[in-house]
Amino acid sequence: MPELPEVETVRRGLAPVLEGARIARAQVNRPDLRWPFPERMAERLTGARIEQLRRRSKYILADLDTGETLIVHLGMSGRMIVSGGEANRDMLAQFHHLHPAPEKHDHVVIDTEAGARVTFNDARRFGAMDLCATEALEGHWLMKGIGPEPLGNSFDGPYLVAAFRGRRTPVKSALLDQKIVAGLGNIYVCEALHRAGISPLRHAGRIAAPRVAALVPVIRDVLTEAIAAGGSSLRDYRQADGELGYFQHTFRVYGREGEPCQTPDCQGKIRRTVQSGRSSFHCPACQR
Ligand SMILES: [Zn+2]
Repeated sequence: MPELPEVETVRRGLAPVLEGARIARAQVNRPDLRWPFPERMAERLTGARIEQLRRRSKYILADLDTGETLIVHLGMSGRMIVSGGEANRDMLAQFHHLHPAPEKHDHVVIDTEAGARVTFNDARRFGAMDLCATEALEGHWLMKGIGPEPLGNSFDGPYLVAAFRGRRTPVKSALLDQKIVAGLGNIYVCEALHRAGISPLRHAGRIAAPRVAALVPVIRDVLTEAIAAGGSSLRDYRQADGELGYFQHTFRVYGREGEPCQTPDCQGKIRRTVQSGRSSFHCPACQR
Protein backbone atom coordinates (compact mmCIF):
# COMPACT_ATOMS: atom_id res chain seq x y z
CA MET A 1 0.00 0.00 0.00
CA PRO A 2 1.43 3.38 -0.91
CA GLU A 3 2.34 5.51 2.07
CA LEU A 4 2.83 9.27 2.24
CA PRO A 5 6.22 9.33 0.44
CA GLU A 6 4.84 7.25 -2.45
CA VAL A 7 1.79 9.50 -2.76
CA GLU A 8 4.01 12.57 -2.68
CA THR A 9 6.19 11.00 -5.38
CA VAL A 10 3.12 10.45 -7.55
CA ARG A 11 2.02 14.05 -6.96
CA ARG A 12 5.42 15.37 -7.97
CA GLY A 13 5.41 13.20 -11.06
CA LEU A 14 1.95 14.40 -12.09
CA ALA A 15 2.47 18.09 -11.31
CA PRO A 16 4.44 19.03 -14.48
CA VAL A 17 1.78 17.37 -16.62
CA LEU A 18 -1.37 18.50 -14.80
CA GLU A 19 -0.72 21.82 -13.05
CA GLY A 20 -2.01 24.62 -15.27
CA ALA A 21 -3.39 22.10 -17.77
CA ARG A 22 -6.94 22.13 -19.06
CA ILE A 23 -8.76 18.81 -19.22
CA ALA A 24 -9.83 18.18 -22.80
CA ARG A 25 -11.50 14.88 -22.08
CA ALA A 26 -12.18 12.68 -19.08
CA GLN A 27 -13.20 9.09 -19.51
CA VAL A 28 -14.67 7.11 -16.62
CA ASN A 29 -14.89 3.43 -17.44
CA ARG A 30 -16.90 2.08 -14.54
CA PRO A 31 -19.34 3.41 -11.92
CA ASP A 32 -17.13 2.93 -8.91
CA LEU A 33 -13.83 2.06 -7.31
CA ARG A 34 -13.96 1.48 -3.57
CA TRP A 35 -16.98 3.79 -3.56
CA PRO A 36 -19.12 5.10 -6.41
CA PHE A 37 -17.63 7.91 -8.45
CA PRO A 38 -19.39 11.26 -7.99
CA GLU A 39 -22.30 11.98 -10.30
CA ARG A 40 -21.38 13.10 -13.80
CA MET A 41 -17.69 13.03 -12.91
CA ALA A 42 -16.48 13.05 -16.51
CA GLU A 43 -18.62 16.08 -17.37
CA ARG A 44 -17.55 17.97 -14.26
CA LEU A 45 -13.89 17.40 -15.12
CA THR A 46 -14.07 18.10 -18.85
CA GLY A 47 -13.06 21.68 -19.70
CA ALA A 48 -11.74 22.38 -16.20
CA ARG A 49 -8.29 23.80 -15.67
CA ILE A 50 -6.20 22.24 -12.91
CA GLU A 51 -4.83 25.16 -10.92
CA GLN A 52 -2.88 23.31 -8.30
CA LEU A 53 -1.99 19.74 -7.41
CA ARG A 54 -1.64 19.31 -3.66
CA ARG A 55 -1.37 16.48 -1.19
CA ARG A 56 -3.19 16.09 2.11
CA SER A 57 -2.30 12.95 4.05
CA LYS A 58 -2.43 10.17 1.43
CA TYR A 59 -4.81 12.06 -0.85
CA ILE A 60 -3.84 13.89 -4.01
CA LEU A 61 -5.96 17.00 -4.44
CA ALA A 62 -6.44 18.70 -7.81
CA ASP A 63 -7.97 22.16 -7.39
CA LEU A 64 -10.01 23.02 -10.48
CA ASP A 65 -10.99 26.46 -11.79
CA THR A 66 -14.62 25.31 -11.54
CA GLY A 67 -14.44 25.73 -7.76
CA GLU A 68 -14.26 21.99 -7.20
CA THR A 69 -11.37 19.80 -6.05
CA LEU A 70 -10.77 16.30 -7.33
CA ILE A 71 -9.77 14.01 -4.47
CA VAL A 72 -7.72 10.95 -5.44
CA HIS A 73 -6.69 8.05 -3.24
CA LEU A 74 -4.47 5.35 -4.71
CA GLY A 75 -5.81 2.62 -2.43
CA MET A 76 -3.77 -0.59 -2.35
CA SER A 77 -2.80 -0.96 -5.97
CA GLY A 78 -3.67 2.31 -7.73
CA ARG A 79 -1.18 3.42 -10.38
CA MET A 80 -0.91 6.61 -12.37
CA ILE A 81 0.49 6.26 -15.85
CA VAL A 82 1.56 9.34 -17.77
CA SER A 83 1.92 9.33 -21.53
CA GLY A 84 2.28 11.87 -24.33
CA GLY A 85 2.28 15.62 -23.91
CA GLU A 86 4.73 18.47 -24.00
CA ALA A 87 5.82 18.06 -20.38
CA ASN A 88 6.83 14.51 -21.15
CA ARG A 89 9.21 15.12 -24.00
CA ASP A 90 11.61 12.35 -22.98
CA MET A 91 8.86 9.83 -23.24
CA LEU A 92 7.58 11.16 -26.51
CA ALA A 93 10.84 10.17 -28.10
CA GLN A 94 10.39 6.67 -26.79
CA PHE A 95 6.76 6.18 -27.52
CA HIS A 96 6.57 8.01 -30.83
CA HIS A 97 3.60 10.07 -29.68
CA LEU A 98 1.60 6.95 -28.93
CA HIS A 99 -0.29 6.38 -25.76
CA PRO A 100 0.06 2.87 -24.40
CA ALA A 101 -2.67 0.44 -25.38
CA PRO A 102 -5.57 0.53 -22.90
CA GLU A 103 -5.31 -2.06 -20.16
CA LYS A 104 -7.98 -3.97 -18.34
CA HIS A 105 -7.94 -1.98 -15.13
CA ASP A 106 -7.69 1.51 -16.64
CA HIS A 107 -10.64 3.05 -14.81
CA VAL A 108 -10.17 6.77 -15.39
CA VAL A 109 -8.37 8.41 -18.31
CA ILE A 110 -7.72 12.15 -18.37
CA ASP A 111 -6.43 13.89 -21.52
CA THR A 112 -5.11 17.43 -21.31
CA GLU A 113 -5.36 19.99 -24.09
CA ALA A 114 -1.56 19.78 -24.36
CA GLY A 115 -1.88 16.14 -25.39
CA ALA A 116 -0.77 14.46 -22.18
CA ARG A 117 -2.71 11.53 -20.83
CA VAL A 118 -2.97 10.42 -17.20
CA THR A 119 -4.42 6.96 -16.71
CA PHE A 120 -5.56 5.68 -13.33
CA ASN A 121 -5.20 1.91 -13.24
CA ASP A 122 -6.28 0.00 -10.14
CA ALA A 123 -6.56 -3.78 -10.28
CA ARG A 124 -7.89 -4.23 -6.74
CA ARG A 125 -10.12 -1.16 -6.78
CA PHE A 126 -9.43 0.03 -3.24
CA GLY A 127 -8.68 3.45 -4.68
CA ALA A 128 -11.15 6.31 -4.62
CA MET A 129 -12.02 9.53 -6.43
CA ASP A 130 -14.47 12.21 -5.43
CA LEU A 131 -15.28 15.79 -6.31
CA CYS A 132 -15.95 18.37 -3.61
CA ALA A 133 -16.37 22.15 -3.52
CA THR A 134 -12.85 23.40 -2.76
CA GLU A 135 -14.06 25.65 0.05
CA ALA A 136 -15.86 22.73 1.71
CA LEU A 137 -12.91 20.34 1.45
CA GLU A 138 -11.99 20.42 5.15
CA GLY A 139 -15.43 19.07 5.97
CA HIS A 140 -15.39 16.28 3.37
CA TRP A 141 -15.87 12.94 5.07
CA LEU A 142 -12.49 11.66 3.89
CA MET A 143 -10.65 14.79 5.10
CA LYS A 144 -12.52 15.47 8.32
CA GLY A 145 -10.58 15.10 11.53
CA ILE A 146 -7.25 14.32 9.87
CA GLY A 147 -4.39 15.52 12.08
CA PRO A 148 -1.49 17.78 11.11
CA GLU A 149 0.82 16.93 8.22
CA PRO A 150 4.03 15.31 9.54
CA LEU A 151 6.10 17.62 7.34
CA GLY A 152 4.07 20.72 8.23
CA ASN A 153 4.78 23.39 10.84
CA SER A 154 2.01 22.48 13.25
CA PHE A 155 3.50 19.02 13.83
CA ASP A 156 6.11 19.77 16.47
CA GLY A 157 7.44 18.48 19.78
CA PRO A 158 4.92 20.19 22.10
CA TYR A 159 2.04 19.07 19.87
CA LEU A 160 3.08 15.40 19.92
CA VAL A 161 3.78 15.44 23.66
CA ALA A 162 0.26 16.80 24.25
CA ALA A 163 -1.27 14.30 21.81
CA PHE A 164 0.41 11.35 23.57
CA ARG A 165 -0.38 12.49 27.13
CA GLY A 166 -2.45 9.93 29.01
CA ARG A 167 -2.65 7.51 26.08
CA ARG A 168 -2.56 3.87 26.98
CA THR A 169 -2.26 2.63 23.42
CA PRO A 170 1.10 1.45 22.10
CA VAL A 171 3.11 4.24 20.49
CA LYS A 172 2.92 2.34 17.19
CA SER A 173 -0.89 2.59 17.19
CA ALA A 174 -0.79 6.22 18.31
CA LEU A 175 1.41 7.17 15.35
CA LEU A 176 -0.85 5.25 12.97
CA ASP A 177 -3.86 7.19 14.31
CA GLN A 178 -4.65 9.65 11.50
CA LYS A 179 -6.22 12.05 14.01
CA ILE A 180 -2.82 12.47 15.70
CA VAL A 181 -0.72 12.78 12.56
CA ALA A 182 -1.71 12.52 8.90
CA GLY A 183 -0.55 9.92 6.43
CA LEU A 184 1.83 7.81 8.50
CA GLY A 185 1.65 4.11 7.68
CA ASN A 186 3.06 0.88 9.03
CA ILE A 187 6.43 0.97 7.25
CA TYR A 188 7.55 4.47 8.13
CA VAL A 189 6.30 4.24 11.70
CA CYS A 190 8.48 1.12 12.20
CA GLU A 191 11.44 2.93 10.67
CA ALA A 192 10.96 6.11 12.73
CA LEU A 193 10.59 4.24 16.02
CA HIS A 194 13.77 2.29 15.31
CA ARG A 195 15.74 5.45 14.65
CA ALA A 196 14.33 7.07 17.77
CA GLY A 197 15.19 4.01 19.88
CA ILE A 198 11.59 3.62 21.06
CA SER A 199 9.89 0.22 21.25
CA PRO A 200 6.66 0.08 19.23
CA LEU A 201 5.12 -1.83 22.15
CA ARG A 202 5.62 0.97 24.69
CA HIS A 203 2.52 2.90 25.68
CA ALA A 204 2.46 6.36 24.12
CA GLY A 205 1.56 8.10 27.37
CA ARG A 206 4.46 6.53 29.26
CA ILE A 207 7.30 7.81 27.11
CA ALA A 208 9.22 10.75 28.60
CA ALA A 209 8.37 14.07 26.92
CA PRO A 210 11.89 14.72 25.54
CA ARG A 211 11.85 11.32 23.80
CA VAL A 212 8.43 12.00 22.34
CA ALA A 213 9.55 15.42 21.11
CA ALA A 214 12.65 13.82 19.58
CA LEU A 215 10.38 11.61 17.48
CA VAL A 216 9.23 14.61 15.43
CA PRO A 217 12.50 15.35 13.60
CA VAL A 218 13.08 11.60 13.17
CA ILE A 219 9.69 11.16 11.49
CA ARG A 220 10.41 14.13 9.24
CA ASP A 221 13.83 12.70 8.30
CA VAL A 222 12.45 9.25 7.48
CA LEU A 223 9.74 10.72 5.26
CA THR A 224 12.01 13.29 3.61
CA GLU A 225 14.59 10.65 2.76
CA ALA A 226 11.92 8.38 1.28
CA ILE A 227 10.51 11.25 -0.78
CA ALA A 228 14.00 12.00 -2.04
CA ALA A 229 14.43 8.33 -2.99
CA GLY A 230 11.08 8.48 -4.74
CA GLY A 231 12.20 11.56 -6.63
CA SER A 232 15.20 9.78 -8.03
CA SER A 233 13.13 6.71 -8.92
CA LEU A 234 10.67 9.02 -10.68
CA ARG A 235 13.15 9.74 -13.41
CA ASP A 236 13.76 6.02 -13.97
CA TYR A 237 10.07 5.22 -14.03
CA ARG A 238 9.19 7.99 -16.40
CA GLN A 239 11.91 6.92 -18.73
CA ALA A 240 10.80 3.33 -18.46
CA ASP A 241 7.04 3.30 -18.85
CA GLY A 242 5.50 6.45 -17.46
CA GLU A 243 4.26 4.74 -14.35
CA LEU A 244 4.46 6.69 -11.14
CA GLY A 245 4.40 5.78 -7.53
CA TYR A 246 6.16 2.63 -6.49
CA PHE A 247 9.83 2.54 -5.86
CA GLN A 248 12.33 0.28 -4.22
CA HIS A 249 13.50 1.74 -1.01
CA THR A 250 15.67 0.07 1.57
CA PHE A 251 14.36 -0.08 5.09
CA ARG A 252 16.39 -0.60 8.26
CA VAL A 253 13.86 -2.72 10.11
CA TYR A 254 10.76 -3.19 7.99
CA GLY A 255 10.68 -6.71 6.52
CA ARG A 256 14.01 -7.62 8.17
CA GLU A 257 12.97 -10.17 10.79
CA GLY A 258 15.97 -12.07 12.18
CA GLU A 259 18.53 -9.78 10.54
CA PRO A 260 21.18 -7.94 12.56
CA CYS A 261 20.20 -4.47 13.76
CA GLN A 262 21.83 -1.67 11.78
CA THR A 263 22.20 0.69 14.73
CA PRO A 264 25.95 1.22 15.31
CA ASP A 265 27.33 -0.99 18.09
CA CYS A 266 23.98 -2.76 18.59
CA GLN A 267 24.18 -6.57 18.69
CA GLY A 268 20.41 -7.05 18.49
CA LYS A 269 18.38 -8.88 15.89
CA ILE A 270 15.20 -7.52 14.34
CA ARG A 271 12.06 -9.05 15.80
CA ARG A 272 8.64 -9.18 14.20
CA THR A 273 5.56 -8.80 16.36
CA VAL A 274 1.92 -8.43 15.40
CA GLN A 275 0.12 -5.35 16.66
CA SER A 276 -3.52 -4.73 15.76
CA GLY A 277 -3.21 -7.37 13.08
CA ARG A 278 -0.22 -5.74 11.41
CA SER A 279 3.46 -6.61 11.51
CA SER A 280 5.81 -4.50 13.56
CA PHE A 281 9.55 -4.80 13.21
CA HIS A 282 11.86 -3.61 15.94
CA CYS A 283 15.13 -4.30 17.70
CA PRO A 284 14.52 -5.32 21.33
CA ALA A 285 18.14 -4.46 22.18
CA CYS A 286 18.17 -0.77 21.26
CA GLN A 287 14.48 0.14 21.21
CA ARG A 288 13.10 0.64 24.67
ZN1 LIG B 1 19.36 -2.49 17.74
